[in-house]
Amino acid sequence: MLPASVDVVVIGAGNAAFCAALAAAESGVSVLVLERAPEDESGGNSRFTAGAFRCVYDGVDDLKALMPDLTEEEIKNTDFGTYTEEKFFDDMGRVTEYRTDPDLCEVLVTRSKETMWWMQSKGIRFAPIYGRQAFKVDGKFKFWGGLTVESWGGGPGLVEGLTKAAKKNGVTVAYEARAMSLIADDEGVKGVRIRHGGKTADVEAKCVVLAAGGFQANAEWRTRYLGPGWDLAKIRGTRFNTGDGIRMALDIGAMPTGNWSGCHAVGWDRNAPEFGDLTVGDNFQKHSYPFSIMLNANGERFVDEGADFRNYTYAKYGRVILMQPGQFAWQIFDKKTLHLQRDEYRIKRVTKVRADTLEDLVGKLEDVDAAKALATIKAYNAAVKKDLPFNPNVKDGRGTVGLAIPKSNWANTIDEPPFEAFAVTCGVTFTFGGLKIDTEGRVLDTDAHVIPGLYAAGELVGGLFYFNYPGGTGLMAGAVFGKVAGTTAGRRAAQLPR
Ligand SMILES: Cc1cc2nc3c(=O)[nH]c(=O)nc-3n(C[C@H](O)[C@H](O)[C@H](O)COP(=O)(O)OP(=O)(O)OC[C@H]3O[C@@H](n4cnc5c(N)ncnc54)[C@H](O)[C@@H]3O)c2cc1C
Repeated sequence: MLPASVDVVVIGAGNAAFCAALAAAESGVSVLVLERAPEDESGGNSRFTAGAFRCVYDGVDDLKALMPDLTEEEIKNTDFGTYTEEKFFDDMGRVTEYRTDPDLCEVLVTRSKETMWWMQSKGIRFAPIYGRQAFKVDGKFKFWGGLTVESWGGGPGLVEGLTKAAKKNGVTVAYEARAMSLIADDEGVKGVRIRHGGKTADVEAKCVVLAAGGFQANAEWRTRYLGPGWDLAKIRGTRFNTGDGIRMALDIGAMPTGNWSGCHAVGWDRNAPEFGDLTVGDNFQKHSYPFSIMLNANGERFVDEGADFRNYTYAKYGRVILMQPGQFAWQIFDKKTLHLQRDEYRIKRVTKVRADTLEDLVGKLEDVDAAKALATIKAYNAAVKKDLPFNPNVKDGRGTVGLAIPKSNWANTIDEPPFEAFAVTCGVTFTFGGLKIDTEGRVLDTDAHVIPGLYAAGELVGGLFYFNYPGGTGLMAGAVFGKVAGTTAGRRAAQLPR
């Protein structure tokens, strides 16, 4: 049975929602989390992640405070560098082509560190991302690309930890409880209409925090807003993020904002299912492409695979792959870089071919013009600058010369067997367009006035990301704005009479 009345309702049960619920509970108010999914599929996209968080740290002492399990041995053998506020601002500006909302971006960057420590105080544990974000060169690991910390146990560990913390702090969590609409009048939001156990019911609330994710799992909205062809993309995560939270808010006059035609989309196994599979998590992705070349159905390269570290290109390359004939590409590797392939290349459910000659390999690339593919690989091999050393930990400048589409870094000839190739299509992570909020997490209406009692956090907030995205920012933004929105909502609810 759900309560008929509560101080704060949080819609969703992912990272942003639980951070909001935990922050609201700090004001001593009653908090109810509504999760549309059944418990075994709950946790939203957050549960599908590796748990990578992009946060500011000013040196190894900050990391030690956040990850007390870090050993002296690890510290000695690792160059963690720093990730300063300046670097985070630069990354957000550069990858969004300076379109990110400056006020929201400032909140994200300047509160990232304190929010990580706050999560730690709630019982969430973190660890360095050795496997994916640092390569060992000359006996020492070096972290690159501003992404150093992940939650213990990845996304599943994060959701489990947050759920436990929420329950410990008195938050009630209801599963298979789908918010359908907001109950609101001229004074603002007063509650939520839900479907629970096949029945419609109203829950009265002083404040409502929307944290129900983007609209990526809604094929009709994808086509309507992202454009033709996006109905054909796969969804990397939960099937439950169909834009409900955004729709409910727009229905009562909230302002849409941000990059509504944009989304985070990556190279994803061509034969992956339509939606994410929790037993595979994020492993259908194929993110070692900077060490490969990618060929389309015409046997041609179509993008600079080595333009930047994967953290700064992967989220926009899904779109580029979707635009290729047949919506797929093959990533080609030879022996020299097989050891650099991420763990996701070694899963069972992978679309992979292997051969000992290039002639055999191109013949095995399904739906590809083999003769053209062979010619492209040979032309690429001839164009590789061989005088610069290859180094995966830095942008090594070892590129190509004279190709119409260059490869700017990490170019190695593809001429040493065995050869491997992996087929990818476009996998959508989350949509960029959403609701307009202020720096207190309050939802604004189309006249830019605060809608009393309505707050938002996570994927359904618009304005932070345009065109592209720096890896690890989704969880960080969800946590920062979840905490902000929950704190504001909790304080307001504590002040309002019963
Ligand atoms: C495969 C994959 C890997 C990723 N890896 C990373 C990573 O390592 N680092 C990173 O920063 N980001 C990563 N991301 C992005 C990240 O998952 C999201 O940015 C972040 O989790 C969004 O959090 P959220 O709380 O806003 O949404 P979600 O975690 O998706 O939560 C939304 C919740 O709302 C619920 N819901 C939807 N509609 C309703 C309704 N009507 N009523 C009630 N509940 C509803 C859903 O069931 C879900 O529980 C990854 C995403 C995917 C798919």
